[in-house]
Amino acid sequence: MSLILTYIATSDGKIKRSSLEVLSHCREEAKKNGHTLAAVVLDTDPDSFTGTLEKYGASAIYTVKNPIFKNHLNTPVIEALAAVIDKVKPAVVAFASTEAVKDVMGALATRFDAPAVPDVASFKVTGDGLDALRPVMASKILAKTSGKGDMVFVSVRSGSYDATESPVSAELTSVPFDFDEGGLKNILKEVIKASGDKVDLNEARVVVAAGRGVKDDEGKKLVEELAALFNGAIGASRSVVETGMFDPSTQIGQTGKVVSPELYFAIGISGAIQHVAGMVNSKVIVAINKDEDAPIFQYSTYGLVGDLYKILPPLIEKLREARANA
Ligand SMILES: Cc1cc2nc3c(=O)[nH]c(=O)nc-3n(C[C@H](O)[C@H](O)[C@H](O)COP(=O)(O)OP(=O)(O)OC[C@H]3O[C@@H](n4cnc5c(N)ncnc54)[C@H](O)[C@@H]3O)c2cc1C
Repeated sequence: MSLILTYIATSDGKIKRSSLEVLSHCREEAKKNGHTLAAVVLDTDPDSFTGTLEKYGASAIYTVKNPIFKNHLNTPVIEALAAVIDKVKPAVVAFASTEAVKDVMGALATRFDAPAVPDVASFKVTGDGLDALRPVMASKILAKTSGKGDMVFVSVRSGSYDATESPVSAELTSVPFDFDEGGLKNILKEVIKASGDKVDLNEARVVVAAGRGVKDDEGKKLVEELAALFNGAIGASRSVVETGMFDPSTQIGQTGKVVSPELYFAIGISGAIQHVAGMVNSKVIVAINKDEDAPIFQYSTYGLVGDLYKILPPLIEKLREARANA
C-alpha cells in the first residue's frame, strides 16, 4: 500500500482552508486506489492541528516542530519536507497551490527526480502517477496533463474541491528536525501584511471585487460594506488598481491573484478575459453592471443589470435585515 501525502499549510495558528480542500480530495483518491492518506504539518506547535486533520480523514499524520516555522521560509520547509518524504516514500505529494509552495514543490521534485504537475484544477491518481486538468490560456481551456513515476508532486488551485470531513483516528509520528538558522542565505526581517487585518483573498469564502464602475469613495464604501457583511475579502480589477483606488495586492486576474471562492461579486467589472482568468472558477458569481451586454454576464450565475450605486444600498440593507433576523 502506498501513501498520498498532503502538505498542510498553517498561518496564524490556523490550517489554511485550501490545504483542507486538497486533503479532502486526496482522501477520496486514497480510498479509490487503496492508498493511505497522510498529512504533514510543519509548525511551531504542529500537535495543535492533529485533531482537525483526523476530522478530515488523515490516517497518518507527520508533525515537524521547530521555531523556524513561525514564518514561511523556503529552505527549512524544503529540508523538513524532504526528510518526511525520504522517510515515507509517498506515491503522490499534494500541495494547495499558493505562492509559498511554488518554489518548494519545484525544489523537492528536482531533489527526488520526480515529475511536478503545478496549479491544477483537478487530478486523479492512476496506477503509474496521476492525470490532471490544468487551466491554461487565461483559464479559457483546461489542458490534460499527467505526471508519471513512482513519486509525483502536484499542486491544486484553491477552491477546486470542497473541504469535507470524514473522521478517523490517526497514527501520529513526530519527525525530529534541527535547523541551523546561521546557514540561511535569505534572512526574513519583517512580514508586512498587505491588507492589515483584512480577510485573505486566497482563503476567503466570499470575495467582493470592484471594477472601474466603482468610481469614488462612496462606491468603494459600498463594496467594503458588502464584503464586511459576509466577512469576505475585497478584490479589484486592474483598472482600479492602476488608478490607485485599490491596493495592488487585491488585483484579481491573469497578472493578479487567482481565486475561487464560494461566492464572487463582480461590481462594475466588464469581464475582460484577463480578469475572468482569476475568478472564473468561483462557485457562484454575482455580477452587477449597467451594461446588459457586458461580458461578465456570460460567466455569472446571477446578473443584476443596473447602476451599482442604486442596486447596492438596498441590497446591503436587505442582507443586513436577513442577518439580523437569522
Ligand atoms: C497583459 C494584460 C494583463 C492584464 N491583467 C489583468 C488582471 O490581472 N486583472 C484585471 O482585472 N485586468 C487585467 N488586465 C486588464 C483588462 O484587460 C481590463 O482592462 C480590465 O480588467 C478592465 O477592468 P474593469 O472591468 O474594471 O474596467 P472596464 O473594462 O472599464 O469596465 C467597467 C465596467 O463597469 C460598468 N459600469 C460603469 N459604471 C457603472 C455603474 N455605475 N454601475 C454598474 N456598472 C457600471 C461598465 O458598464 C463596464 O462594464 C490585463 C490586461 C493585459 C493587456
